Amino acid sequence: MDGDRIYLDYAATTPLDPRVLEAMLPYMTERFGNPNSIHSFGREARLAIDEAREKIAQLLNCQPSEIVFTSGGTESDNLALRGIAEAYRQKGNHIITTAIEHHAVLRTCKALEDMGFSVTYLPVDEHGLVSPEQVAEAVNERTILVSVMHANNEIGTIEPVAEIVKAVKEKRPDILVHTDAVQTVGHISVDIQELGVDLLSFSAHKFYGPKGVGGLFIRKGVRLVPQLTGGGQERNRRSGTENVAGIVGMAKALEIAIAEMSNELPRLQSLRDELIAGVLNRIPDSRLNGHPTQRLPHNANFSFRGIDSETLLLQLDMHGIAASSGSACSSGSLEPSHVLLALGLDYELAISSLRLTLGRFTSHEHILRVLDLLPNIVERLRALSRSLRV
Ligand code: PLP
Repeated sequence: MDGDRIYLDYAATTPLDPRVLEAMLPYMTERFGNPNSIHSFGREARLAIDEAREKIAQLLNCQPSEIVFTSGGTESDNLALRGIAEAYRQKGNHIITTAIEHHAVLRTCKALEDMGFSVTYLPVDEHGLVSPEQVAEAVNERTILVSVMHANNEIGTIEPVAEIVKAVKEKRPDILVHTDAVQTVGHISVDIQELGVDLLSFSAHKFYGPKGVGGLFIRKGVRLVPQLTGGGQERNRRSGTENVAGIVGMAKALEIAIAEMSNELPRLQSLRDELIAGVLNRIPDSRLNGHPTQRLPHNANFSFRGIDSETLLLQLDMHGIAASSGSACSSGSLEPSHVLLALGLDYELAISSLRLTLGRFTSHEHILRVLDLLPNIVERLRALSRSLRV
């Protein structure tokens, strides 16, 4: 990281790994062929895509033909939900999801409601957990799809997806289960067969790959109506000339992330725990949002009653610390986070949140600097808001 700035917003996006860039560059320059062309330029690009698909399938434990490349997490979620809803409409019109999904899922569900589908938005407990029993109970004879995220992007809570799949399939084996694994792939172990899901979304820029490329796992035998019409690429599931360099980069990034996970995961976890303990000890009336242990190794999310997160973020930014109040997509509006409200936080706590997400370039010094600065900033903002109230 450059200069004195500290980046603590890795859940929003990550910097491109230089090794990934190196792998991508030839496919932006001399190996520029269209993978759908039959000449040698095309074949070169096709080979690169095939190899990337094989590598990703091996790393996630599925078949290469079950991976469809997309433009990222948002498109993968849309393709999964809309594609399944359309394909299985004759069978039923009920979808189950949770109140804490990313907007890529929630707003797609809302759009499907407008198209005549009925959606159950399951509540979560105080830590953000969805219970498998609750999901199974919500199943009815018209249910076609369940979509529960693998880990939440704001609070980092890891959902019991394998247990949810089991509970759903015990009740109705024909119901399809999708998981948005955008925050977990490349960060914690993701084994598609262990999870047992039928569809799984991922996105390269969350694990040090390029932006604008992602993938959707679609289990063999699952039908899906493509959402883009065109040249029929990706075995007719996603038309459009493939983002060759991006796909090559994504495979490389995933390979590196998984190879380095056994070192990186405990390192981040220990920095995160020091950060959490330090904040809770040093800042009165502060709380940790999300599950105390079942959470992403690099996620910390707090609320500090009496301040608003927007002002806090600006103050931190002035001190060179880049953080977030929740999801990057909804910042800029003063709406409290739907995730924090779903945990049961009151409005005042929900608008006072701070998400710090750690990554490859986070050092112990960074954590110490945050622990040094944050208590003073929070105290000053609280004093200011008290003085404005009297
Ligand atoms: N799903 C989750 C859980 C996310 O965190 C994000 C990104 O913030 C997305 C989906 C969207 O992914 P992308 O930015 O690749 O469209």
